[in-house]
Amino acid sequence: SREYKLVMLGAGGVGKSAMTMQFISHRFPEDHDPTIVLCCWQNTGGGKRNFVWPFQKSCYSLQRLRILLSFLDYEEAEDAYKIRIRIDDEPANLDILDTAGQAEFTAMRDQYMRAGEGFIICYSITDRRSFHEVREFKQLIYRVRRTDDTPVVLVGNKSDLKQLRQVTREEGLALAREFSCPFFETSAAYRYYIDDVFHALVREIRRK
Ligand code: GDP
Ligand code: MG
Repeated sequence: SREYKLVMLGAGGVGKSAMTMQFISHRFPEDHDPTIVLCCWQNTGGGKRNFVWPFQKSCYSLQRLRILLSFLDYEEAEDAYKIRIRIDDEPANLDILDTAGQAEFTAMRDQYMRAGEGFIICYSITDRRSFHEVREFKQLIYRVRRTDDTPVVLVGNKSDLKQLRQVTREEGLALAREFSCPFFETSAAYRYYIDDVFHALVREIRRK
């Protein structure tokens, strides 16, 4: 059956890993973050990086890890997942790349932006800056692929945190209209609309 290469994009902390984890294993990772736990790199300038330190999940609480990492110029590691599902009665093998780090241009990013067939661009409804960064990710896709018909789904995550909302649903909808792409407000914490996001992206790829 057909394979689909999907890439999670978005600012740090918006919930890309939590969404991926919920989709794949129906779990909300509250006490660990695999993209942080894996390894830590220190930028030494001139595009060079040093491996700093393998973190042991058992030794450090997530909060301590974040504090430690904030003192290093760090870059999180990417994680990939495979899952086999049926969408609209058709089997689909999904390869999901859960990215980390900023929208800066690197050789590796260039590669997965080219290899990816569909992109989930995430922001958090509680973080206006992450909403502004969505445009940067959209431009990054365009810069690498030189086409505007790359399948994309726009996602405003953390919809459960209503009191902390900084981005309205209407703003999200308007941006999705501009991109001509599907839009969902999700909660990785409660697994709201998580399947819908991935299914919508596969449908977008099938339509193209
Ligand atoms: P990433 O950097 O985009 O991969 O973000 P993470 O998946 O690591 O999530 C960042 C933080 O936001 C973690 O503390 C998560 O527990 C939390 N988080 C992620 N999704 C949600 C959500 O839908 N609701 C709430 N309340 N918290 C979330
Ligand atoms: Mg992550």
